[in-house]
Amino acid sequence: MDYQAVLEEVAAFARPLVGRGQAAQYIPALADVDAAQFGMAVADVDGGVYGVGDWQRPFSVQSISKAFALALVLAEGGNKIWERVGTEPSGNAFNSLVQLEYENGIPRNPFINAGALVVTDRLQTLTGDASTTMLDFLRAESGNPDVAFDPVVAKSESEHGDRNAALAHFMASYGNLDNPVTTVLEHYFWQCSVEMSCRDLAVAGGFLARHGLRADGTRLLPRREAKQVNAVMLTCGTYDAAGDFAYRVGLPGKSGVGGGIVAVIPGRCTLCVWSPGLDARGNSVAGVAALDHFTTLTGWSVF
Ligand code: GLU
Repeated sequence: MDYQAVLEEVAAFARPLVGRGQAAQYIPALADVDAAQFGMAVADVDGGVYGVGDWQRPFSVQSISKAFALALVLAEGGNKIWERVGTEPSGNAFNSLVQLEYENGIPRNPFINAGALVVTDRLQTLTGDASTTMLDFLRAESGNPDVAFDPVVAKSESEHGDRNAALAHFMASYGNLDNPVTTVLEHYFWQCSVEMSCRDLAVAGGFLARHGLRADGTRLLPRREAKQVNAVMLTCGTYDAAGDFAYRVGLPGKSGVGGGIVAVIPGRCTLCVWSPGLDARGNSVAGVAALDHFTTLTGWSVF
């Protein structure tokens, strides 16, 4: 596969959509990002890395961090996490409270905010420092020691974090958090604030294409758990548009309100696309279109 040629063609296809939609408005530090940017990278399982456009420009990973947090919790604590959080799509907005009351404080899946807060809580218990554990992992897997938190974004989220605080307190009332709410929120916001490029994310997500093997060849996850992360990405990774994403792209994917999407073709490669203009459900407009075109051109959707 001539990845570079495919990426050039995909970028040309997506170009008319770049700048459509709106950067996330509810986190003030993200609202000012220029929506007219686009980058895409592919990291294949043999170590090849290819990119197009703004593929080396760091952006706020936001909810893409939720996929890495889940993998780290499975690596550290195994399948016990599934006693605290489910594996079903929610069909509701990523920051919705409504289902929690009906389901006794057990969030539907690890990729809505409630579920990610539970995962962060477990990671904190297992490692003693959830956000630093994630940062160290991302630096090691991407091979980029400059991957860092963005304190301005973390502070902005913390100052506008009433909804996440409500979710955390509500779950704490059901006994589904071990650590103090303030600790969980702090680590969650730091994780979301990490800045990485498409290149960094595609390379760091390589273990998902390698069925759980890290960049150095050691095993992060057993094959079964690697499969689980990819499966939950497919069914729950793109907010309440996971059905539409499966229909258009047909791959496990995790998006973030920074405009990035990581997608996995198990056994072949990990992709990352970034364009900050979001659709009404919080997914990158040009990013989803680019992935749609990529899987159509290559025939590599799971469908
Ligand atoms: N930090 C964001 C929040 O908690 C993440 C949202 C997202 O990317 O989905 O609202």
